[in-house]
Amino acid sequence: MSLSRREFLRRNSLTGLGAMLTPTLLAETTPLTMVPPQIIAVIPSQTTPLAALGGSPIRSKPWPAWPIWNPETDEKRLLEAIRSGVWSRAAMVTEFEEKWAATVGAKRCLSVVNGTNALIASLAQFGIQGGDEVLVPAYTFIGTVAPVLAMGAMPIFVDVEPDTFQMDPAKIEARITPRTKAIIPVHILGLPSDMTRIMPIARKHNLIVIEDACQAHMAEINHKQVGTLGDAGCFSFQNSKNLAIGEAGAIVSDNDAFMDRCFSYHNYGNPYGTVSGIIGIGTLIQGTKLRLTEYQAAIGLAQLTRLDQQTTLRNENAAYLKAKIEKIPGILPYRLYDDVTRAAYHLFPFRYQPEAFKGLPREQFLKALSAEGIPCSGGYTPLNKMPYLSDTFKSKNYRKMYSRKQLNYDRYLENNQCPANDQLCQEAVWLSQSMLLGSRADMDDIANAIEKIHGQAEQLGLKK
Ligand SMILES: *Cc1c(COP(=O)(O)O)cnc(C)c1O
Repeated sequence: MSLSRREFLRRNSLTGLGAMLTPTLLAETTPLTMVPPQIIAVIPSQTTPLAALGGSPIRSKPWPAWPIWNPETDEKRLLEAIRSGVWSRAAMVTEFEEKWAATVGAKRCLSVVNGTNALIASLAQFGIQGGDEVLVPAYTFIGTVAPVLAMGAMPIFVDVEPDTFQMDPAKIEARITPRTKAIIPVHILGLPSDMTRIMPIARKHNLIVIEDACQAHMAEINHKQVGTLGDAGCFSFQNSKNLAIGEAGAIVSDNDAFMDRCFSYHNYGNPYGTVSGIIGIGTLIQGTKLRLTEYQAAIGLAQLTRLDQQTTLRNENAAYLKAKIEKIPGILPYRLYDDVTRAAYHLFPFRYQPEAFKGLPREQFLKALSAEGIPCSGGYTPLNKMPYLSDTFKSKNYRKMYSRKQLNYDRYLENNQCPANDQLCQEAVWLSQSMLLGSRADMDDIANAIEKIHGQAEQLGLKK
């Protein structure tokens, strides 16, 4: 291997490694630890010192690129859209919606500008408003919680099951009050949440269930896809997601009246389906504008042709990698619930236990793993205690809708403690979905790099 530094940087800025390491594209997650220059090894060698200590890395090849774009197959519809001059929503957007509904097994689909706004539209059309409480898991992306605040509602955090990374169903009921109106289970990291236990709790308490499936394209529980198990499901097609359009999202549901309202809402509140008035009466409900463009739909249609196959490959590689690394002491990969028949693996997560690595802190483990040529990240930091909450509580709207006691931030923090999540956020390590589109040998590189660090953790710990 003898890529010059410039050649390495050039290639990787054009491929997945570069893409994955570019914080702007990864805006959805925590920026991955940058690969330090040591990865560009010039001395090939077998058993070597850790790359973080100047040895040669396990791997210096780039990882599969993301997003994938094949000009030969993908550009026909895109050019058609662009050359037609019909750029606002028309037939291609409708075609994409029909195909996405069919793919996930939902009656209806509405595309919108992004996943965040899919959640906003869903909450709005299920009538979630100021004073309402909405249950959310603590281990998620801000895109789950911002929509709750956009409604003027109060996010209530539910702690996680650390081995699955998902909302803990056993902790839901204690968080329900007479003000609770909805629950947003998030299939976080693309691993299905425990819907089999969550749905009966939601039904018992008459809660609306909006699934945040923004990371979980084509994941399944008992052969039924996530997003179709609650009252509505929301998807994201942001650049990093398993179906990448750049920016886009979708709502799926079997509820016609709800979907008609969502359509109307995404088009200023103008008449649609059962949202109808006397001809000429004009705009009917409070709406906004969330419409997709034809060229975005063309990109989505191209990506959709590969999603099923890619999902199968991610499942195969994840199972293979999991079986290998769970043998390494201190590495605890995710657990899937028994009724999960397929996961999406937007990320491949495991928990890292420093005790088994001679006390090596996770941050140093992440750096060492990156240095071996394996890009990785520590993932989320706790969302239940970030400044956006106190900022919202200070707003004029919130001060009109809630009592002083309800907006007491210290009291809120106290009531929303999620100790299991705090711990999980300290322990998690993520690998990106596009790495799972590689070969078995690529998975071996990951396992070998972790093994190598495990074997030499002491040396790293002694450094400085
Ligand atoms: C990406 C994401 C969102 C928001 O989707 P955007 O398309 O980026 O707005 C919401 N929730 C989760 C869990 C996500 O990963």
